[in-house]
Amino acid sequence: MYINGEWLHAKSGETRDIINPYNQEVITTAAEGNAEDTKAAIQAARVAFDEGSWSTLPASERGEIVYKIGGLIQRDLEKLAELETLDTGKTVEESRADMADIANVFFYFGGLADKDGGEVIASPIPNSESKVVREPVGVCGQITPWNYPLLQAAWKLAPALAAGNTLVMKPSEITPLTTVKVFELIEEAGVPKGVANLVLGSGKSAGAELAANLDVDLISFTGGIETGKTIMQAASHNVKKIALELGGKNPNIVFADADFETAVDQALNAVFFHAGQVCSAGSRLLIEESIHDEFVEALIERTKQIKLGNGFDENTQSGPMISAEHRVKVEDYVEIGKKEGAKLVVGGKRPDDPALQNGFFYLPTIFTNCTSDMRIVQEEVFGPVLTVETFQTKEEAVKLANDTIYGLAGAVWTQDLSKADFVAARLRMGTVWINDFHPYFAQAPWGGYKQSGIGRELGREGMEEYTEVKHIYRNTQPEPVQWFN
Ligand code: NAD
Repeated sequence: MYINGEWLHAKSGETRDIINPYNQEVITTAAEGNAEDTKAAIQAARVAFDEGSWSTLPASERGEIVYKIGGLIQRDLEKLAELETLDTGKTVEESRADMADIANVFFYFGGLADKDGGEVIASPIPNSESKVVREPVGVCGQITPWNYPLLQAAWKLAPALAAGNTLVMKPSEITPLTTVKVFELIEEAGVPKGVANLVLGSGKSAGAELAANLDVDLISFTGGIETGKTIMQAASHNVKKIALELGGKNPNIVFADADFETAVDQALNAVFFHAGQVCSAGSRLLIEESIHDEFVEALIERTKQIKLGNGFDENTQSGPMISAEHRVKVEDYVEIGKKEGAKLVVGGKRPDDPALQNGFFYLPTIFTNCTSDMRIVQEEVFGPVLTVETFQTKEEAVKLANDTIYGLAGAVWTQDLSKADFVAARLRMGTVWINDFHPYFAQAPWGGYKQSGIGRELGREGMEEYTEVKHIYRNTQPEPVQWFN
């Protein structure tokens, strides 16, 4: 752990084995911190914010340091990518792409640090001046999940630092390795001690303290919806600011006039990328009835070809589930789907390949004959499981797409742009893709409508999350008001 500029073991001396999900081998052991370690880290961040220079440093200087972290990530890209693949099982090609994105996130927020100099507003009161400025929020708690360990960390670290906050981050206890490495780079880039702190350990202990502690001003959380609700409750003790990036059950709407091959190809990519362990996975395929049979047939053929394996093998297209427990959760959902009457048309079991028996693999799975009242359609499976529903009109497509508690992302495929615009305008989601699936980048905000979350990461909005807004009013000719004469 990295607290107040020092690399530390857990106070309790406890450690946790970090497991490679491809073969269940122990990669290394990590410190297993608890609430006591988190309290020490919060204290360091509090002192650094209240008494240190980070929040008052010229924004351009802070930006330069944040930008420098991006450069160090580029320098160490291959090492970081390999570590991410060891820890998550995702293909190394995907990890390399993640690392390139992560460097860009630091470049973007580093560049943004000095772009908002406040705004002079037109005061309605004579002889006065008014301006609105943004200031850092203070001490930020940041909790990240295991599916995109370093990417999710970067979305929080870069804007928080650029905006002048101090922070304590707790990554997922399952996948802490790349986050530890990036804290080494944060140190190397010259972030002053106490500004950025790292605690490792379970959510219930090390994480819960971040959400509840009265010295934390903001809690930013990415993870599951139930954990998000717990964090919201804990944060209410001192009315912390909250930023939540929760799950999704994202619709992928395909009209009959879409380019067939592209839509089939991208429907696979939408849901099976990273074994479906993606918050924005296109796990609900909504297909226009007239092309349903042909489309599903093509999907099944392509799905059977997906090559599971070691993320370091360049032929591998998809890795394992993150853990034994998570695979059981996915398996339970498949059983639920069958009981609900959905038709299993491909997958639905662990692979037979003897080479894959030590990893937490699960075959890409498709259910047809689905209806929106099924749990398999409503609940986030977070695995390689696709449900297929049909629609006849664009209005029906929108209704089905929005029939969910979530609102993270969705896509629409059609060559008719007016139809695409009709759907895009009506989807109750934070991101809508037209004739594409998955693109995201540092310049555009990311986040959810409805129960997919509160607030936004990335883009200008992602920076604003880490600021308070202050109105400064100055009377240029003060004189008595004589009210109490
Ligand atoms: P999770 O909620 O189990 O854990 C996320 C983090 O919260 C971990 O660091 C964990 O240790 C911590 N945690 C657990 N209980 C806690 C508590 N009581 N108090 C404080 N911290 C606690 O989620 P996960 O299984 O790691 O990740 C999968 C989930 O994350 C999915 O639902 C997925 O959709 C979501 N996710 C969302 C986005 C997004 O941008 N919206 C991105 C990635 C993942």
